[in-house]
Amino acid sequence: MRGMNLIAAFEALRAVPVLEALSTGTVDAAVLSSLGFRDAGAWQKLAGVYFGPTRHRKLQKAARDAAVGLSLDALGVVEKHTRKLLRGAAVTPWELRVELCSLRGTVEEIDRAAATRVREYNRGVEDAEKKAYGRRALKGGKNTDGLGNRTFTVTGPERVIADVLGGIRTVAGQLRRDDPRLTYEQAMFDAFLDTRGGGPAREVVITVLPLPESTKVLRQEGDETVFARTDGTTITGAELVAEAMADEGYVGIFDPVHGGVNMYRDERFANFKQRVLLSAETIVCPYPGCTTPASECEVHHLTAWAEGGETNIRNLTMLCRLHNARNDDDPDAPPRHGRMERAPGGVVHHPPDGGPPRRNIHPIRDRSAMALIST
Ligand SMILES: [Zn+2]
Repeated sequence: MRGMNLIAAFEALRAVPVLEALSTGTVDAAVLSSLGFRDAGAWQKLAGVYFGPTRHRKLQKAARDAAVGLSLDALGVVEKHTRKLLRGAAVTPWELRVELCSLRGTVEEIDRAAATRVREYNRGVEDAEKKAYGRRALKGGKNTDGLGNRTFTVTGPERVIADVLGGIRTVAGQLRRDDPRLTYEQAMFDAFLDTRGGGPAREVVITVLPLPESTKVLRQEGDETVFARTDGTTITGAELVAEAMADEGYVGIFDPVHGGVNMYRDERFANFKQRVLLSAETIVCPYPGCTTPASECEVHHLTAWAEGGETNIRNLTMLCRLHNARNDDDPDAPPRHGRMERAPGGVVHHPPDGGPPRRNIHPIRDRSAMALIST
């Protein structure tokens, strides 16, 4: 077959025409299977959904119209996520299909976008967490591959999985420092065996909570507001209040002008908690152009201790050893290197020539706590 003909043949393999052909019997799933299309059985089921009898004819047609141009794989992804919609959500499965069928992009992009939308709808369902927990699973591990290895997958609430992996990752990091030849995956496996049942060390997870929202949360309003956490999971205001009461996780509150305000946990962690808040605020040393990560920085007093500066969070910032040493601590002495000061949106550098203050515009700082609440 000529190249152009082949392209035309692939074009004809879009979801809607194939499913229509399967539903009318023009094409037989068994024939497609024998041609090597391993998903033919799943396509037959999809044909039943999109062309079969239903009480929702209008929405079914709307979904087909929206799906014009989608590939079979993309429509398979839409169906996978539609099955995860919980009963009691603000949309019906058919309304969701219409919405998801209008997504465009690669199959992976549609997969992620659909997961996010379904998650948002499910958040509004009473007992959503309990229902999701009902789908927890450990699967596989029964088949041996040619090397003699086996694989299993674990499915559970994002916070449980992130927590377990966080502990394993901490140990894996130590193993890789001891033996740099270990790949990340190998170290994770070794750490998994090490930490089995042993209650692995917890990673410090911070929830970024903008100050205006924090008052709502503390008044237990705005329960549906969603906040990001440093382990890549999300949490609602209601869950946050519950967590703040429990003895796990950290909740950092950041004010757009003054930076870190407080972190709820045991008072004996005072110094540690200041470091954690200041690190989340800046991510890297705030000196313009510096790339030293906050984890390698020192705590710097913006108004020097000798000048009466206090050890409270408004007067502190992380600063690398070099830029800490070079800071003009005495504001009345002749300027040499300039000095760091707190400004709305974060800590800035005032140059010695009296020019305008400058920020460190390192791109990772777009994801710092201060950047997240200042936009
Ligand atoms: Zn620096």
